Amino acid sequence: MPAHDVLIIGAGLAGQRAALAAADAGASVAILSKVHPVRSHSVAAAGGINAALNPEDTWESHAFDTVKGSDYLGDQDAIEVMCREAPDEILWLEHAGVTFHRNGSGHLGTRAFGGASQARTYYVADITGQAILHVLYERLMQHHERVARYEEWFTTTLLQDEDGNCIGCVARDIRTGALEVFNAKATILASGGAGQAFKPTTNALICTGDGIAQAYRIGAPLMDMEMIQYHPTTLAENGFLITEGARGEGAHLYNALGERFMEKYAPNKLELASRDVVSRAEQTEINEGRGFPDGTIALDITKVPRKRTLEALREIVNIGKDFAGVDITREPIHIKPGMHYIMGGVKTDFEGQTSIPGLYAAGEVACVSVHGGNRLGANSLLDTLIFGRRSGAHAAARARGVAMPKSPVSVLDDAQGEIDAIFNRPTGGRRISEIKTELGETMNRYVAVYRDAEGLATALEIVQRLKQEAPSAAIDDKGTVFNQDVLGAIELGYMLDVAEAIVTAAQERRESRGAQFRTDFPERNDADWLHHITVSLNGDGPSLGTAPVTITRWEPQERTY
Ligand SMILES: Cc1cc2nc3c(=O)[nH]c(=O)nc-3n(C[C@H](O)[C@H](O)[C@H](O)COP(=O)(O)OP(=O)(O)OC[C@H]3O[C@@H](n4cnc5c(N)ncnc54)[C@H](O)[C@@H]3O)c2cc1C
Repeated sequence: MPAHDVLIIGAGLAGQRAALAAADAGASVAILSKVHPVRSHSVAAAGGINAALNPEDTWESHAFDTVKGSDYLGDQDAIEVMCREAPDEILWLEHAGVTFHRNGSGHLGTRAFGGASQARTYYVADITGQAILHVLYERLMQHHERVARYEEWFTTTLLQDEDGNCIGCVARDIRTGALEVFNAKATILASGGAGQAFKPTTNALICTGDGIAQAYRIGAPLMDMEMIQYHPTTLAENGFLITEGARGEGAHLYNALGERFMEKYAPNKLELASRDVVSRAEQTEINEGRGFPDGTIALDITKVPRKRTLEALREIVNIGKDFAGVDITREPIHIKPGMHYIMGGVKTDFEGQTSIPGLYAAGEVACVSVHGGNRLGANSLLDTLIFGRRSGAHAAARARGVAMPKSPVSVLDDAQGEIDAIFNRPTGGRRISEIKTELGETMNRYVAVYRDAEGLATALEIVQRLKQEAPSAAIDDKGTVFNQDVLGAIELGYMLDVAEAIVTAAQERRESRGAQFRTDFPERNDADWLHHITVSLNGDGPSLGTAPVTITRWEPQERTY
């Protein structure tokens, strides 16, 4: 039974940064991932990472933009921490070997991003996540004496002792099907987002909300779950992302009448207003009949000099060609708002601590809350690194004062029993893929850019029906080696829990703020709703609570761009 000071579940940017920080603090670390670490979803991050590093910029300006972007729902103490520590984190990455873009004078160069009052996004062409992830992985391998890597291991359950402390997890070796108990003095969830609960989504197939549901199931409250980001520029058919970097480099949006419609909705920032504002503007144009017949808007990247596009946006040149048959350097590409990011997650403080002693969370799985109602582009990579590092350091400090826990062997029998029950499901019920598709399409229809009470009630009814159906969905593959079928069945359960929490919180918030726009409550209402909504598991379903929003220096104002 492996035992480590700090166990990290997830090896994307948050997990790897946490592992490095914990190892640097002297802890023995295990990092576990259901895919090879460099295939974690962070590898897809394109446009860049924010920091107020230029001498003419300030962390306070970055923090204010973030607070405003969050529609005043972000916790300002946490936002201050993130923005104050951002410049040093960028320098640390650069010194570690990340080849950030340099401008003509040889300095680190920036690009503009939405909702930012300065160009403060540092980038490596449009493969920023990949560039950072690979450098962190190299570092992780250098720490091989302290950091044990469990690659292609799937966590099924978090473990607690009699006093409620989190003491590790049960995981399945995907290569062999063997189950193992991992004990740890501190456990950090870094298992990413839940985009697959929507269809289509910009998120990879592995983003199934595992950590959010696992923490929820052992009693950790979730927060801001109603806040789902729809990114303004995704391909209609398959949800592929066209990075905000395109608009940062100068691309324009047009409706089918050839109007640059953002002039109406955000006369100052135009295409570089925050994402919730741009997505709503696009959806309004589409709903009111000014979109293209395929329900889209045109993104015109030909405004960017061709040479610059080929150099700085080369991945989306490929995506345009391969997935839409469009040469973006010569003609506009059709896009629409698409599900992209979950602002909510497991409620933590800014050391990554959840309400369960010994359990931490960092990255997209967590809600600190630095993004509140709407995340600014390029603030997520920053969030993963800052709070990944802080969680790793804090967890290592905790481990110094705690004895190594030991789980009873019976937990393994229980976990095996649950897997066996999936293998033994009688055939004849609905297929897992069918239930997943119905879930995703339901969420994308009723819990999207615009929402209302009727649609949310329909969504909840469907999600709850799917929760009834899922436990009898049989699998075809009964083998032990790389059995993705059984993992798919487990992931479906996680997505359904997450979806139920999202819909319930969206029903509860009877106002419009950030990514939650209720057509039946179209105004922001600070008097009644300037607080977080929390969701905890009560018996079999969600129960709602509230948590205060921390305001340090920026009182809520009207939000215009
Ligand atoms: C297309 C795209 C482009 C983006 N571009 C940007 C950008 O330019 N800038 C920006 O700031 N943000 C961007 N984002 C958002 C950002 O990439 C993510 O929010 C961030 O990378 C999440 O990192 P993470 O470490 O929290 O999780 P991930 O990178 O998703 O890692 C999750 C890890 O958890 C593991 N895991 C999950 N479940 C289990 C389980 N049950 N058992 C074991 N392991 C498990 C996975 O294997 C993986 O290692 C983008 C997002 C998308 C979709």
